[in-house]
Amino acid sequence: MAGAPALKHWRTTLERVEKFVSPLYFTDCNLRGRLFGESCPVAALSSFLTPERLPYQEAVLQDFSPAQVGDSFGPTWWTCWFRVELTIPEAWVGQEVHLCWQSDGEGLVWRDGEPVQGLTKEGEKTSYILTDRLGEGDPRSLTLYVEVACNGLLGAGKGSMIAAPDPEKTFQLSRAELAVFHRDVHKLLVDLELLLGIAKGLGEDNQRSFQALYTANQMVNVCDPARPETFPVAQALASKFFGQRGGESQHTIHAIGHCHIDTAWLWPFKETIRKCARSWVTAVQLMEQNPEFIFACSQAQQLEWVKSHYPGLHAQLQEFACRGQFVPVGGTWVEMDGNLPSGEAMVRQFLQGQNFFLQEFGKMCTEFWLPDTFGYSAQLPQIMRGCGIRHFLTQKLSWNLVNSFPHHTFFWEGLDGSHVLVHFPPGDSYGMQGNVDEVLKTVTNNRDKGRTNHSAFLFGFGDGGGGPTQTMLDRLTRLRDTDGLPRVQLSSPKQLFSALESDSGQLCTWVGELFLELHNGTYTTHAQIKKGNRECERILHDVELLSSLALARSTQFLYPAAQLQHLWRLLLLNQFHDVVTGSCIQLVAEDAMCHYADIRSHGNALLSTAATALCAGEPGPEGLLIVNTLPWKRTEVLALPKPGGAHSLALVTVPSMGYAPVPAPISLQPLLPQQPVFVVQETDGSVTLDNGIIRVRLDPTGRLTSLVLVASGREAIAEGAVGNQFVLFDDVPLYWDAWDVMDYHLETRKPVLGQAGTLAVGTEGGLRGSAWFLLQLTPNSRLSQEVVLDVGCPYVRFHTEVHWHEAHKFLKVEFPARVRCPQATYEIQFGHLQRPTHYNTSWDWARFEVWAHRWVDLSEHGFGLALLNDCKYGASVRGSVLSLSLLRAPKAPDATADVGRHEFTYALMPHKGSFQDAGVIRAAYSLNFPLLALPVPGPAPATSWSAFSVSSPAVMLETVKQAETGPESQSRALVLRLYEAHGSHVDSWLHTSLPVQEAILCDLLERRDPAGHLPLQDNRLKLTFSPFQVQSLLLVLQPPEN
Ligand SMILES: [Zn+2]
Repeated sequence: MAGAPALKHWRTTLERVEKFVSPLYFTDCNLRGRLFGESCPVAALSSFLTPERLPYQEAVLQDFSPAQVGDSFGPTWWTCWFRVELTIPEAWVGQEVHLCWQSDGEGLVWRDGEPVQGLTKEGEKTSYILTDRLGEGDPRSLTLYVEVACNGLLGAGKGSMIAAPDPEKTFQLSRAELAVFHRDVHKLLVDLELLLGIAKGLGEDNQRSFQALYTANQMVNVCDPARPETFPVAQALASKFFGQRGGESQHTIHAIGHCHIDTAWLWPFKETIRKCARSWVTAVQLMEQNPEFIFACSQAQQLEWVKSHYPGLHAQLQEFACRGQFVPVGGTWVEMDGNLPSGEAMVRQFLQGQNFFLQEFGKMCTEFWLPDTFGYSAQLPQIMRGCGIRHFLTQKLSWNLVNSFPHHTFFWEGLDGSHVLVHFPPGDSYGMQGNVDEVLKTVTNNRDKGRTNHSAFLFGFGDGGGGPTQTMLDRLTRLRDTDGLPRVQLSSPKQLFSALESDSGQLCTWVGELFLELHNGTYTTHAQIKKGNRECERILHDVELLSSLALARSTQFLYPAAQLQHLWRLLLLNQFHDVVTGSCIQLVAEDAMCHYADIRSHGNALLSTAATALCAGEPGPEGLLIVNTLPWKRTEVLALPKPGGAHSLALVTVPSMGYAPVPAPISLQPLLPQQPVFVVQETDGSVTLDNGIIRVRLDPTGRLTSLVLVASGREAIAEGAVGNQFVLFDDVPLYWDAWDVMDYHLETRKPVLGQAGTLAVGTEGGLRGSAWFLLQLTPNSRLSQEVVLDVGCPYVRFHTEVHWHEAHKFLKVEFPARVRCPQATYEIQFGHLQRPTHYNTSWDWARFEVWAHRWVDLSEHGFGLALLNDCKYGASVRGSVLSLSLLRAPKAPDATADVGRHEFTYALMPHKGSFQDAGVIRAAYSLNFPLLALPVPGPAPATSWSAFSVSSPAVMLETVKQAETGPESQSRALVLRLYEAHGSHVDSWLHTSLPVQEAILCDLLERRDPAGHLPLQDNRLKLTFSPFQVQSLLLVLQPPEN
């Protein structure tokens, strides 16, 4: 028996146990030092270095040169393939044998032509189990390949994680040998570490803490590391402790294996493909060895990559999905940004994602999974519900800098009133390790104690991949049910949410957006990516509409379904939460721009094809088709291409979602009763533009001194102030450079003053009038702007070009309005919301920089001012000043972010009445969806034609597309998506000239509503909307007449 009882000294007892398991101290005699037994070098090692990411079959055929431990390789983003020939000594029969491998970079072991396990120091995976018990007759010689990527789990930042990558990094192989692994030592280490964790975590006030400490101490007493026969007694002490059960009221933690892999971030898209393989093949191995282990995996795009690059692994994932161990979650194509994508793009994330999951894994996801995104749109609950999802998991709001979010489990009510059940894992992480402190935090930090008794615990290395380890699983299974701790159950998201749902009577409800009080610079960083996003959303909208009309009109036309799916997937990929947000490295930004270039070029070709099909058989003059892709009749000034590359302006009227012939050349006379645009430059250099609707006055430096709504004489610019005022701010965040703009940047505001005399008249009036000027922003950066007013147009446009060469500066433009209101309105997906214009409470001022889509409006009773834009997302309204965020200049993780030339347009629209009644929403659409003048090879129609129109201005027909095709490749059915945009209950008629046979309501995934048949009366359908409701409609077209 042991000697005298332990003295009552907490610290020495605790530290004694710590030393017994320490990897640093006393490893000559402690337990940790015995984890591995005998070792021997590998028989032969050779390597091959390549800048390419080669497939295995190709790589192994290359010339390998002799290599040894200690060798360096690189540079960054290259790959070093190692051929490892090994022979296990015969004396090791009966033992567990590992290949111990330590190198910089991320490794993947290949065995018999298949990937079998990831190897990364940072992910605590430094050994590969060759055999868990070497048998007498087992083959002992083997050749493996280890594919080592020259980047770490989190890229290759120079000096700090988020610094731009160091292109010259070298990597080293520091260990490659065989060793005997002592599984019994490993188990004791896990027990002792957990006991230490309990002792520390529960602290000196707690009875159970001392029980844990004394159990561990006694284990050290009885355990002689050099004599394995002493281990069972120690093990029995641990088992007795962990076998003491908790009470019935214990909290239950649902431990779900996970591996957050950023689809591109501090590494390029192509590396992510390999990250998926490394991470998931390791998860497969763990699922094989631990039948209770459940691994939740999101992002269809990543699974699609694995399917095409690692078909064997994909088949294994499918098999484990059947067993319920591999659980696809999220339902989306990628884990997209939750703020910037349009409503339709968000729908497509789910449409592409859910269909992929259904096709590859036999079912759709039942929960939305977005642990790491920078805020969540108030429209997400409705979009989720429309896509068959009632549950949502995230944790990012734990990053709020100012206010602590009050719930971990709650109902979230969206803009339209839709509800979903939301859970934030209370440990505030998606990368748990299975340690006791994390388990305890999950209980103590939970803001819904007493309301729900279940919570999630996502374990596994994440961000750069990696995922769970066997040790994490060993810890968590040991903590299954131990007195003093919550119960820990290996679980699935479905089990978690059904437990939460069955006990949800006491949960609170949060209404509206989940705003992240951090990372507010991501609305602005990488302006070209933002512009590409907005532009490509428009292109795909227009292509789908025109192709649908061509499909309905022509029996010959083949709807480009496969091409559109490809282009949509590129756009959705770029909406990943570190790409469209601009928080990625330069390599990723370049790839993203290539994706946009593909969408532009193929999209424009598809537009021409559809336009040509629409014109087939038409009798009119050759040349151009004028198209309006928006659902109301528009009369606008359009620049028509003339031979030789010139343009001529024309005033055209095009019906709702339809086309018109090119108008005959006109004089101003037919404009009446519309007033032409007058442009006057005064002797002091100021310029006035007037179209009879608004009158704009610019001072000699281009600032707006007056904006008058002519009919009422009402001035929109605040008294004594000027609009179109550019302002620069110092923009140095605390750490997350590309992500964060801090509140204190507002204290550094510096208005940019122009030089009088630079303002000149551009277009002299008539259909269009304009004035332009140059502005030196700083010694290095300059801006030029054309201020444009068109005939009949209710807003003035500011076409802006900036050459931007700054570091840590923020450029905005301000408009002080003669309007007073405590709230401003911002457009979001399929609707809008209000945010305060004051800083009363911490919740108000934490929203000093917010996101919006195409417009922001500040209105008081009877009058308001709206600020529209064609590619910006950052904005704010403080007091009466509307400001639009234009350009930032962060240096990490991309030192070149935003350096260079930019072009963008914003517009200003003063209005009478409410913004709804004044048509602000339509104006913002018009700015973003210009009329198209599409060249066609043959004759174009001689008359106008409209496919769809909607009777109520509150209802927006957002999307017209072909219904997702089933087995039959050319479905003659269209899907229409409409939403209520004013925030009102409204009845509306949809009119169509297309040959519709049947109309049925469907959900966002285009599944028919069994009770959704709509009667067609005189080509009209009646639709009833509640505020901000989105409705989808399946229109089956009549079969073609031959
Ligand atoms: Zn992420």
